[in-house]
Amino acid sequence: METTFSPEQMQVPAIAIANDILRKCVHCGFCTATCPTYVLLGDEADSPRGRIYMIKDMLENAKPAPARVVKHIDRCLTCLSCTSTCPSGVDYMHLIDHARVHVEETYSRPLGDRLLRMVLAFVVPNPVIFRLSLIGARLARPFRALMPGRLKGMIAMAPDKIPTPSRCDTPQVFAAEGKRRMRVALMTGCAQKVLRPSINEATVRLLNRHGCEVVVAPGSACCGALVHHMGKEDASHAAARNNVAAWTAEIDGAGLDAIIINASGCGTTVKDYGFMLKGDPAWAEKAAKIASLTKDVTEVMSALGIGENTLKEQPSVVYHSACSMQHGQKLREEPKNLLKNAGFEVRDPVEGHLCCGSAGTYNLLQPELAGRLKVRKAANLEAQGAAVIATGNIGCLVQISGATDTPVVHTVELLDWATGGPVPEGLK
Ligand code: SF4
Ligand code: SF4
Repeated sequence: METTFSPEQMQVPAIAIANDILRKCVHCGFCTATCPTYVLLGDEADSPRGRIYMIKDMLENAKPAPARVVKHIDRCLTCLSCTSTCPSGVDYMHLIDHARVHVEETYSRPLGDRLLRMVLAFVVPNPVIFRLSLIGARLARPFRALMPGRLKGMIAMAPDKIPTPSRCDTPQVFAAEGKRRMRVALMTGCAQKVLRPSINEATVRLLNRHGCEVVVAPGSACCGALVHHMGKEDASHAAARNNVAAWTAEIDGAGLDAIIINASGCGTTVKDYGFMLKGDPAWAEKAAKIASLTKDVTEVMSALGIGENTLKEQPSVVYHSACSMQHGQKLREEPKNLLKNAGFEVRDPVEGHLCCGSAGTYNLLQPELAGRLKVRKAANLEAQGAAVIATGNIGCLVQISGATDTPVVHTVELLDWATGGPVPEGLK
């Protein structure tokens, strides 16, 4: 694609990067067929190619983002399905990230929209406040009908039962069972440990059982993905620096062989810390080191090899590959192979490449499209007739649970169960 940035514009590193990305696009349109918003709406402006054109115009003109463009950028799920399909290797992720920062800096959203985004950016990454908000939302349920549209949807999403916090999420070291094979840091995250604390507990047990000493590093917290996808660059970079500092202290101390992430949405962002902070001389090198050590839990478990299966009977599993897992991190076979090696019969759904509509806060900000994707995904998963749905991302787990009676559990909960852990919470 031809671009016409001025020499002055090209002096800005972010514009130079956007220019390189844009020039790779050959307008072939292969990406449209696998884009969930194009599949639903059939509008070129809601396809990757359409968005790339709009972003190009917006950045070249160096003007405030127009409302028409913001609408289509906001509708993008950042599912990255287009990057899996694109034959030219267009780095759509960094392009849409840059476009969102431009929107955030130049576009004045309607007041209600601004307030909602401020609340989400403040509440969700903070586990204590998020937990209190969920309790409040549950209490407000009887008055739901009186609430305005999106607030009504948010209240409906509060789980019936809010689990008590896990003691495993505070800074500490969990010793390896038997001979130590690795020393790893676990990112305990933000929303996940409130909604399903059993996932971190299962992860620690599984890793310990397979010879990993697991440390929850003091100071590590939310990865920043949520604010990153809202274009709030200062907040996302602050979250990245916070975690880089926490894990660097561990590397400099007792050492780390890997940083383990068990929510693939977070993993995609932490693996990008090197890119996010590369313009900051004080942090660039450390961030790149952290990114290079970051692994999804299934990557490390694949390298270690799954232990002996202790179950006599196991349910059939249909595996939902989160977009951040299959498109963001390109991890497609590892989780399924681990489940198979642990004795589960694993089935694949049709339209496995399409997003479930969770996409961070997308289901709260774009409830109509997210709802349609959720129902479609749940139907495709249920059609496999498996007893359990497994996935590796908390957002998908919550989203899909809202549209099916089939239990939805995290992949590590099944692996932990099969190798000696308790029955996953969702299957009790
Ligand atoms: S990230 Fe997903 S929703 Fe956005 S343009 Fe690409 S395929 Fe479409
Ligand atoms: S598939 Fe790639 S090269 Fe083709 S239009 Fe989409 S982004 Fe551009």
